[in-house]
Formats: sequence, structure tokens, C-alpha cells
Amino acid sequence: VLRLAAALFISAVVSAGDYRAGVARVRTTPQLPVWLVGFAARTEPARAVGSDLWAKALVLEDRSGGRVAIITADILGFTPRVTEAVTRELAQDGWRPDQLAFFASHTHSGPAVLDRMRLSVAEGPSFEREAEAFTARLRDALPKLVRDAWQGRVESSVTFGWSEARFAVNRRIEHLAGIRPGETFPAPVDHRVPVMRLARPDGSVLATVFGYACHNTVLTGDTNEVSGDFAGYAQSELETVEPGSTALFVTLTAGDQRASPRGSRAWAEAHGRSLATATRAARMNSVRGAIVTARSEVKLPFAAHTREFYAAEAGSRDLFAARRGRAMLAALDRREPLADASYPIQALRIGSVTLLALAGEVVVDYALKLRERFGDQVIPAAYANDLPGYIPSLRVQREGGYEAGDSLVYFLQPGWFTDEVETRVLQGVEQTLTKVGVRPQSGTR
Ligand SMILES: [Zn+2]
Repeated sequence: VLRLAAALFISAVVSAGDYRAGVARVRTTPQLPVWLVGFAARTEPARAVGSDLWAKALVLEDRSGGRVAIITADILGFTPRVTEAVTRELAQDGWRPDQLAFFASHTHSGPAVLDRMRLSVAEGPSFEREAEAFTARLRDALPKLVRDAWQGRVESSVTFGWSEARFAVNRRIEHLAGIRPGETFPAPVDHRVPVMRLARPDGSVLATVFGYACHNTVLTGDTNEVSGDFAGYAQSELETVEPGSTALFVTLTAGDQRASPRGSRAWAEAHGRSLATATRAARMNSVRGAIVTARSEVKLPFAAHTREFYAAEAGSRDLFAARRGRAMLAALDRREPLADASYPIQALRIGSVTLLALAGEVVVDYALKLRERFGDQVIPAAYANDLPGYIPSLRVQREGGYEAGDSLVYFLQPGWFTDEVETRVLQGVEQTLTKVGVRPQSGTR
């Protein structure tokens, strides 16, 4: 045991000094009552807190001035209203947009974030005030978090490894059985858990960044309480077992993935604990080398409808269809082009490991394809920087249904994407990874 401890101590000493890192956090639990967003079925605001919500920042700096800030929050999704304001503010400190990455846990048990993340039946002045207040709070808190983390940074070693958790299932199977009865479909999952650990020179854990491809919806609309859901419980479990550490959760390609079983706080806690246990069990390897970041925007093409279609929709009794119809009519009146959506892709390379930050509810096919092409040193994260809607693969589009395009009405988007969406995203990923020096593995197309 002594010999092992000595070896661990030496390895910590040798690798400390490659990086400097700092963390900061702020509690964002809202005042009650509050409307929670994500489930259209909720008919009243929440009057209880199941677990606190947090926003956190981790900054990491290499020896030659390369740096990155990973910002996480227990929210449904980040919107440009927040990210653009924070990015503008931090530009004053010399931060470039490609060095700042925003990751949402996609909890469906948190308040609305404007402009787009207002997925509930709530409407009217008091809901707008509530949503404005939470959005402003996030916008004002995040630059301070990054600054505090930067101020407090210390010598740090970085290790990386993979683990596995098995509670995610492909949620499309049930849905497809309803819309295409009698047919069978593949049900891909990605149970990998990437883990990046930052340690202080004394070996204690400063921060753990971990991810999982699973909708953060163990709590359903029936449990109407503020909560970070399983990802929140997993983070607090890690922080409890590693005192003095900060855990940051990154949602991976969870678009068509959800937890099983689900539906109660007890299950959210149980899955959170099992993810924390898996995270701690990862076999870790040292990470060394420069931090290199890049960000691109690609255009994703929509098949928009006619003005007449949206006008009819605006008069619909379906609340969400009517909202989309009105939004599209307003956009047409402003002469905005509807057919293209700007889609951010970001790559954060830390030595040999690259965190890929994709916007939106990316389905799991992307992770499986990217693993085949780029190997295990690229972590395919989603729900980053913006949440334009689901990002289906061509396979999912052909199958049809919710993630294929039916859901885009809830995101106030003009219609389904065209069949080009997968190609455009994968090409954008490849170009962005090239910018940070990551190339396909040999032997792949
Ligand atoms: Zn979702």
C-alpha cells in the first residue's frame, strides 16, 4: 500500500505544472413558485425544490497561453441571448469565443431561459417576468464565475479515461411502435462515460468533468419540483465523495436516449449515484500537451412551409403550433430567411483529448459514427452553446417521428430539416477537428 501511495505521489508531482486550473460555482435555484420548462403536460408552477440548481465554471490554462473555459448549468438549454452576452463581456478579459464553451444538463425541472427555452404551457406577463429574471441572472453570473475561476487557478494535473453506465435506453422504440406498428428498428445506445479529472499538486481532486448520453428526464412532468435530475444528483454525489472538488456534467448525444426505469426522485437519485460510481471507476491516463480550440458555424437547411401554412397554424387551437405559426409570420414580416439555421460546432483540444461541443439534441448515431472515424480521444458532447432543436441522423429522419422532425415545432423552427442535415453536421465536425489538429484514424473513410 505504501509503495502504491508513493507511486501515486510521484506521478502527481511529475504531471503537476503542465496546466493551471480553477473552478467556481453559483447556486441558481429560483424563488418559488416557478414554472418549469421541458414538459408541455405541466399545468401549474412548481412549489418545491427537490435539489438545488447550479452554474459552474472550470478554466484550464496550458504553459504557452492556450486556455479554455468549460461552463455548465442545470438548465434545459443555453440560448444565444445568454451565450452572446457572456462572450461579449468576457472578450474584455481577452477570452475568444472559441475558448468559451457552454454545456446545459438539459434538466426538464428548471426555469425558462429566453429566447427559446420556454417549453411549457405558461404564458403572460408574470411568466415573462420570471423567465426574464432567470435569464438575466444567468447572463450576469457566468462572466463572474469565469473570472473567479481564473483568479483562483492552481497548478493542476489532468487525467482522462472512459467508464460505462448502463441505464440509458433508446427511447424511439416505443414511439416507433406507435407510428409504424409491426416493423422493427435498430435501437442504438452509447453507454460510454468519459471522465476528465483535474488534480491539485497534493493529489486531491480539483474538478471532475464527466458526461453521459441520456436525457436528463428521470423526473417526468408529474414530479413538479425544481431539480438537477440524475445529472444533478451525480454531480453532488461526486462532490460529496471527493470533498473540495467540483463536478461538471456534460450531456452527450442524448437526443434519442433516456433513462430506464424513470419517473421518481428515488430513481433520479439512484441513476445519479450509479453514474457517479461509474465515473470514479474510470481507468485514467495522463494528459499532456497544448490546449487548442476552434469554433465553426455551419448552415443547417430547413424545409420551410408557405406563409399560408403558418397563417393557418397561428389560428390553431394547439398552443404550440399557434406559437410557431405566429413566430414564423413575424419572421417573414421582418424578411428573415427561414430555410437556414446557423449551427455552432466547437472543438476543445486538451493535449491528446478533444471535447467536441455540438449544439442541439443530437441523436446517438453521431457519437457512434464519430467514434468509428476519430476513435476514443474525441468526446462527442451535445446540448452545447445553443439548442436549436433535435439534430436527427439520416436514419432517424427516414424512420420518422418526434426526433426526426415532428419536435421542431416546439423549438419555433420552420419545419423539418432536409435530408442534408447529417452530412452538413459531420462535414462541419471534420473541418472543426482539423483546425485543432485532430484527423480521422487511419483505415476509416
Ligand atoms: Zn430533449
